[in-house]
Amino acid sequence: MALSIPVVWTDAHRLHDPETAVWVGVSIPADELPKRAEAIRSALEDAGAPIVPASAHPDEPLLAVHDPELVDFLRGAWEAWVAVRLPEDPGQPDVVGYIFPTPGFLAGLEPRVPTALSARTGAYCYDTMTVVAEGTWEAARAAVDTALTAADLVLGGKPAAYACCRPPGHHVTRGAFGGSCYLNNSAVAAQYLRDGGFARIAVLDLDAHHGNGAQAIFWKRADVLTASVHVDPAAGWFPHFLGFADERGSGAGEGANLNVPLEPGSGDDVWLAGVDLLLESARAHRSEALVVPLGVDAGAGDPNSPLQVTQEGFREAGHRLGALELPTVLVQEGGYVLDTIGSLVRATLEGFEGGATS
Ligand SMILES: [Zn+2]
Repeated sequence: MALSIPVVWTDAHRLHDPETAVWVGVSIPADELPKRAEAIRSALEDAGAPIVPASAHPDEPLLAVHDPELVDFLRGAWEAWVAVRLPEDPGQPDVVGYIFPTPGFLAGLEPRVPTALSARTGAYCYDTMTVVAEGTWEAARAAVDTALTAADLVLGGKPAAYACCRPPGHHVTRGAFGGSCYLNNSAVAAQYLRDGGFARIAVLDLDAHHGNGAQAIFWKRADVLTASVHVDPAAGWFPHFLGFADERGSGAGEGANLNVPLEPGSGDDVWLAGVDLLLESARAHRSEALVVPLGVDAGAGDPNSPLQVTQEGFREAGHRLGALELPTVLVQEGGYVLDTIGSLVRATLEGFEGGATS
């Protein structure tokens, strides 16, 4: 049976295409590539899914989850980088930080905003691999529109919609970007559904890496549950500093954050048991709508994760999500194997439609 879930799309994702990232001080080939989204679209079109163009939205939904300073920085960073001629001297074509206001450095003092752009970058970006290139802002902003258009469809009565977002977003906090992400598409969609009338939202993150962005943004809130199944950061995986099981939220949000870290090498059975814990948390939360940051980098063979989930595992996860029978916005996050990313997303969405009876 053909897929009926609307696939929200923008060609603007292609504008973000940096050639390299900086990792442990070395320029390495970028792997968050335009071909990823093209492969997904191709697989979903083959499955019969309707393609819906993303529509432009104002900044308000974006500013509901992000600091204006972060948004302003991203909007102007590349032009500013070029204006101070850093591409010529020392020869770095893209915006990358070199000094970071870590707690030990600040020793309790409030940091100033640095004058030098090369330093100011470190106030907003917490790693060196997430470079801002020409077109990054336009693509990242269009990815937000993609997620918001999918949320519009669900607010308008569609049972579900899939946002083919790129660049991804689930590692972005209220005020800082990183992890190959710039703006938190999933978190923007969750807050937008909340503002659109759903009283309780669950963000169920299936990406292989911890969804630290939504965790941070909704940390003190009970109305937005954040839950993530991911490779154990203690085993040496991004985001390293966060994503542990004892992070449960605070204040009104105490208990409204769930992390399910998994051993490297975990396959379908263990991963699906983790997915079940996310689903149980949404049921207990009495969530009225779901946002699913859907990375498929937990798939076996993905170089960015040691998890070993099969295509059938993703199909089953989709099935179980669909069985919740809640209005759902699925938002693309990671997944880096061009030969399989499309089929893994397709299997998840087919499973999702098979799980929903309505
Ligand atoms: Zn990931």
